[in-house]
Amino acid sequence: MRNSEPEVSTHSSVCPLDCADTCSLSVEVKDGKIHKVRGGEANPFTGGKVCSKVTTGFPAQVHGPNRLTTPLRLSGSKGSGQYEAISWDAALEEIHQRYKAIISEHGPEAIVPLSYGGPMGLLAGGSMDKRFFNKLGATQVDASTLCAGVSGAAYESVFGDTGGIPYAELSESKLIIVWGNNITVGNLHLIKLLRRARKSGAKLVVIDPKRIRIADEADLHLPIVPGTDVVLAYAVAAELERLGALDDSFIAEHVHGAEAYLERARTFSLADAASICGIALADIEEFVGMWANIRPAAISIGVAPERNRNGGGGIRAAFALPVLTGNIGMPGAGVCDVSGFFPIQHDVLEQSSLIPEGTREISVLDIPSKILSPGDGVPIKSVFIYNHNPVAVHPRQAHMQEALLSENLFVVGSDITMTDSMIYADIILPAASHFEYGDLYKAYGHHYLQRSEAVIDPVGDALPNTELFRRLASKFGFEEACFSHSDEALMNAAIKPDVAALDGRLAVDISTEGAIDMTVGSRGTLLRGATPDTPSGKIELFSEALEQDCGEGLPQYRPLETAFRFVLVSPSSDKRTNSTFGGVADHDRDISVEMNPDDAVILGLSDGQQVRIFNDQAEVVMPLSVSDKVRCSTLYVPKGAWIKDSETGQTINALIPGHKADIAGGACYNDTTVDVEAWDTTRG
Ligand code: SF4
Repeated sequence: MRNSEPEVSTHSSVCPLDCADTCSLSVEVKDGKIHKVRGGEANPFTGGKVCSKVTTGFPAQVHGPNRLTTPLRLSGSKGSGQYEAISWDAALEEIHQRYKAIISEHGPEAIVPLSYGGPMGLLAGGSMDKRFFNKLGATQVDASTLCAGVSGAAYESVFGDTGGIPYAELSESKLIIVWGNNITVGNLHLIKLLRRARKSGAKLVVIDPKRIRIADEADLHLPIVPGTDVVLAYAVAAELERLGALDDSFIAEHVHGAEAYLERARTFSLADAASICGIALADIEEFVGMWANIRPAAISIGVAPERNRNGGGGIRAAFALPVLTGNIGMPGAGVCDVSGFFPIQHDVLEQSSLIPEGTREISVLDIPSKILSPGDGVPIKSVFIYNHNPVAVHPRQAHMQEALLSENLFVVGSDITMTDSMIYADIILPAASHFEYGDLYKAYGHHYLQRSEAVIDPVGDALPNTELFRRLASKFGFEEACFSHSDEALMNAAIKPDVAALDGRLAVDISTEGAIDMTVGSRGTLLRGATPDTPSGKIELFSEALEQDCGEGLPQYRPLETAFRFVLVSPSSDKRTNSTFGGVADHDRDISVEMNPDDAVILGLSDGQQVRIFNDQAEVVMPLSVSDKVRCSTLYVPKGAWIKDSETGQTINALIPGHKADIAGGACYNDTTVDVEAWDTTRG
């Protein structure tokens, strides 16, 4: 006789979302379903605490009405949302036949994977999937242009791929700069560390256009105009030089291009910075005084400063402050960056050697244009959307929608739930959530490596990415041994075998009840065991490589040309991570536009009323939230909303322009300019 008590068990897991903290989770499973999600103790950096979005978001995502549980084939017109259930074999066979036809007519580059930043596990994020597309000869896609590509290129141009300091080291800093990093939302566990550092006498400076929560605890908040970071950093550097506060011997020994950099910096006075950056002169002077008098100093810089036309320059100029003041190479000093602690073997995981020579690479941002206007190149005849919700995430949303609706485009989609992008698919494949398979996780907000195991059975017929692409490779007759590698083999191949932190263990043997401290036995951080891996072997404030590549040897400032009154910033939300959970009830309650009270008075608008936000690309309607946390002429709408509740059938992504940042071709989300007016409810 069946026991009537529900079966409850608790398991360790890891949060797979695109968030710096990669928290360990404690998951309560009740009758085979995800019941409760709490903070797990396995990871000492995140121990016991998670953000509120995952506690309700994950159970609803995994078991809610939106869950995809079986392969589907479009049975109505494109975008109609009408589908019929089919078997996995039928779905994979249809993909195989359609791809064979496309390849025979146009070649394999006509097939394009459209993937970015869904689950961050090393297996789900880039292993068997990459092997499949590499062997197929599909177009290679640079998806870093959506996020972090500019920051990465900026870092590399200054320091090479030599890693910075772990976040935990901020506890030893006496001056901490949180620059364009809304840690309350995207780097939650840093807060405790910063509070502890302040108690020990450290000064905290927050640079952010908005008075974010951590700014209320800061010693100084600089509410910078978006896109002007480069001016602030240049002006501060020039003033430090005038005060004799630069570390000349450090510069002479370790820095390349300092004179050229300072010559450019001298063209920006503090008064210029106050005027261009919209910051009180006295506050900038106080900031200068801190750099001149306090050390060790460290910077935690987020991705916000990269999301504009001057993105690379702004980040490089911010890096120059610890460099010019000699704040590199001692405990508690430098730039927070944990990339050097994770020796991931991407080439092995992805089997990059399978890529046919001469295969083209395009930016993920250019896919819609190349679908709609192929020009002389190979036309795009299919996109395979997975780990991604491009309609909710990309700039120029209407352009993406138009491209995905193209009659002659075969769209394959794989996701956990029915998203704004899946409804454009001809074939939909049900993806397993990370609770349904094991994976290995690095992080970008701490230095711990973690492993997870499946905690529930697959929901319906859902499959993890590794198995989906393994089956697809078999359907295509790919015979290389790498296509039959198990998940365990992939996991073991993910990390270099001789890593001291693993102490001889294979990755599959990492306990799910603990986390590996990857600083143990690491090759060292910048100027503490590791030299700058740049062409000159020094820290480069002038980059010959960038000069040759795009004329950006030195950071440059370009004003924003616009006819609209407001800059619209779309930061992280504490309800969603990117667009994940956008379809979950109550995870869209933060969708409103924040405006400074002075602007609201000028426009005759009041708190709570519906307003129309528009530019020459689109219009979006949402409630107004009047707040003195935002600066005048700057608006805030948190990112990641889904279209379902939109009055105009579009989200703010429809307002975001298509131009690119100064380096690395990054998306310029924060160069969005708009106007606002009361919404005419008779139009609704
Ligand atoms: S979204 Fe970020 S803070 Fe929230 S649980 Fe996941 S990793 Fe932690």
